[in-house]
Amino acid sequence: MAVRVLIVDDALFMRSMIRDIFSREGFEVVGEAENGAEAVRLHRDLKPDLTTMDIVMPVLDGLSALREVVRMDPRANVIMVSALGQESLIAEAIEAGARDFIVKPFQASRVLKVVQSALGLDERFRPRVPPAGGSPGSRR
Ligand SMILES: [Mg+2]
Repeated sequence: MAVRVLIVDDALFMRSMIRDIFSREGFEVVGEAENGAEAVRLHRDLKPDLTTMDIVMPVLDGLSALREVVRMDPRANVIMVSALGQESLIAEAIEAGARDFIVKPFQASRVLKVVQSALGLDERFRPRVPPAGGSPGSRR
């Protein structure tokens, strides 16, 4: 089962870039939101396995959206996407329950590393140890 991803960013080109990275790696992008309010609504409706959350957005910013998402779903895997110079917001976001962060401009390899490690912390995505003599099936 593909990992289901929600992408949140007010910039279309950023959403496209992030979507490409995930699609190429076999993740399923289930939704895109362009502000925090939409992010909260889509997170509630789609229950994604992972969400990338921009910080500076209209209507509702990423930090407020994060807080709302974590309140609804304490197990939410949210990765913050920040611009340079937003270190204090990042610290606040981690405090509020974000799993990790990536800083723009970023490389696909960095995004995937952060995502894999966030999913690795989530018992839902830990690979099952195959039974002795069984085929090494993978679940993810
Ligand atoms: Mg933005």
